[in-house]
Amino acid sequence: MRNVLIVLSGPSGVGKGTIAKLLVERNKDISLSISCTTRKPRDGEINGREYFFIDKSEFKEKINNDGFLEYSEHFENFYGTPKDFVLDKLQNSNVLLEIDVNGGLEVKSRYNDAVLVMITPPSLEEVRNRLIKRGTETEEKINLRMERIGYELDKQGLYDYVVINDVLLDAVKEIEGIIKLEKNKCK
Ligand code: 5GP
Repeated sequence: MRNVLIVLSGPSGVGKGTIAKLLVERNKDISLSISCTTRKPRDGEINGREYFFIDKSEFKEKINNDGFLEYSEHFENFYGTPKDFVLDKLQNSNVLLEIDVNGGLEVKSRYNDAVLVMITPPSLEEVRNRLIKRGTETEEKINLRMERIGYELDKQGLYDYVVINDVLLDAVKEIEGIIKLEKNKCK
């Protein structure tokens, strides 16, 4: 059986972070990739756990050294998937990337065996409520994120699988099924 590189994408607030955490907790053979970002850590976030927090000049240096599987800019900050970190991890386990849609498509273009899974909300109102409940963003920022949602959802046809996050544990189990199926595919 092969190890699979799974990309989880979906609009902000859709619950993909929670899903990723549960997938890793429930499955010893799945590890989470850690992205690099130039944004500042939020309360409770730790360098090397949620992200590798680096500054813009370090990020640019890494771009120049072909150090990312993909990278992009969101809300004036850069986010990128460190290439060697992910490919090294893939030697020993399945690897989960939690990145945006464009990033996911870029990973697929560079690493065709990647499995793209889009998480969608049961409704748009539900997403706004989740973002408000999270309490980390201003209303203006939440509005910006809501605008992006339509854009991301429009790309779901390009993904290998679409999973609706209505009942959390059902969504998690559905993704576990997808991973099992993909692991058994001969490539
Ligand atoms: P946040 O600042 O809320 O942690 O993340 C903002 C957005 O950046 C989210 O949509 C998240 O999925 C995306 N993101 C996080 N890491 C990466 C990455 O490595 N590459 C890309 N393209 N997007 C990322």
